[in-house]
Amino acid sequence: MVVVMKRDATEADIERVSEKVREAGGEAFVSRGAVHTIIGLVGDTASFMGLGLDNFPGVDHLIQVGKPYKMVARALHPQPTTVKVGPAAVGRETFTIIAGPCAVESDEQALAAARGAKAAGATILRGGAYKPRTSPYSFQGLGERGLEILARCREDTGLPVVTEVMEPRDVELVASWADALQVGTRNMQNFALLKEVGATSKPVLLKRGFSATVEEWLMAAEYVAQRGNSEIILCERGIRTFETATRNTLDLGGMVVAQQESHLPVIVDPSHAMGHRELVAPMARAAIAAGADGVMIDVHHDPGEALCDGPQALTPGDLLELSKDLNALALALGRQLV
Ligand code: PEP
Ligand code: MN
Repeated sequence: MVVVMKRDATEADIERVSEKVREAGGEAFVSRGAVHTIIGLVGDTASFMGLGLDNFPGVDHLIQVGKPYKMVARALHPQPTTVKVGPAAVGRETFTIIAGPCAVESDEQALAAARGAKAAGATILRGGAYKPRTSPYSFQGLGERGLEILARCREDTGLPVVTEVMEPRDVELVASWADALQVGTRNMQNFALLKEVGATSKPVLLKRGFSATVEEWLMAAEYVAQRGNSEIILCERGIRTFETATRNTLDLGGMVVAQQESHLPVIVDPSHAMGHRELVAPMARAAIAAGADGVMIDVHHDPGEALCDGPQALTPGDLLELSKDLNALALALGRQLV
């Protein structure tokens, strides 16, 4: 069960409800949103029913959620949520382009990608400073130095930055530099990490695990929300199937299910899904046509020299061409491309 508090509910009102739930043997997880604070109740729903919580001061209404995920469930918020990343918005009203290098390699390389992203109308810059690599011998990212480079790119372009964090112990540091924290596909069920990013006030971009069902993905988001952070953007980035022609199989159907099941914005990463540059633009166009809330695209000024995922990187020129298509599609579909 979820308790939705009134706009003007006080801390004392919230604590009164939480205390009552704890007395009844349950747990109360408070999530403070921009408009409403909600309290997720975990425990025996039947015992909560008799508490008369709907008559408590500050309580707006109660919602019974018949799903394993509650705070992120659509039933909680019939209206889709818009998540702000710095000045940029990700939600159903707009279509957001997030672009940048897979990995931050140097000032020059990151800046070229960031300026290309800006020129193509991207409103958020992506770039990895901590890279999850299959091989320990591959480039692992520049770490904190990469975060500093991203901050300089933000200063240069005005674009807010999303970057991956891989370990709970790095969350504080990464959050001190970034505008949004990315949890990658390999860490989607790193529950310690999910709890840690859930305890920050930075938006979280949660990628779908490459072997995760939509339900498991939403349960991962629930871990973040349960810790008090409901500013979550879901990202479909392809799942592992028998097919080897593409790096992963882009599950646009799963993207739509996630949008219908949750109130969170859902974007698509066609770069990591496809793995080949020539397949990125067709699937980015498919993503907007299917109703995605945005795309995240890898960009490199010299993909042949990239230290990570060069084969899937678009050049700034390719990205500009793609953004013209996305603009035309947005217009036809009544979406606003910002
Ligand atoms: C990335 O976006 O840089 C990345 C590593 O993606 P994924 O976690 O989807 O593989
Ligand atoms: Mn990559």
